[in-house]
Amino acid sequence: MRCIGKGAESAVMFCGIMNLPPPPTKFNNNLLQAARETCEESMAEAVHEAVEENEGGRDIAVAVDGSWQKRGFSSKNGVVTVTSVDTGKVIDVEILSKHCICPNKTKHLQNCKRNFVGYSGKMEVTGRLTILNHCCAAVEALSGEPI
Ligand SMILES: [Zn+2]
Repeated sequence: MRCIGKGAESAVMFCGIMNLPPPPTKFNNNLLQAARETCEESMAEAVHEAVEENEGGRDIAVAVDGSWQKRGFSSKNGVVTVTSVDTGKVIDVEILSKHCICPNKTKHLQNCKRNFVGYSGKMEVTGRLTILNHCCAAVEALSGEPI
């Protein structure tokens, strides 16, 4: 259902209309963990491929772009991707969300997924800065010198 832009409630409704049992939810955390691990491995491999394509040089060319779940700068979710220009593969992502289901909006729960506050159009800028900070921290860790 996620592939067509529909959520869990739509899946439950669809199964109800089709006289099917409700979709299983008990495997969601396992699927999320497996998808996360696969994503991280795939992006790490994409970085190595981009470096190899650049003849060992770590100064690779990338394209950074942001996208939102909905049009019109009213989306609660957005993603920023970093893609290698040489290989066309995604090498980093930053997911931003304004979505919050906490009962008290001033005191957020520990498992709250909200990691962005502000205008949706600003998500791309924030995502770019976050990715840049990750990259700088990684380079500093590798070289041992501050950037
Ligand atoms: Zn919250």
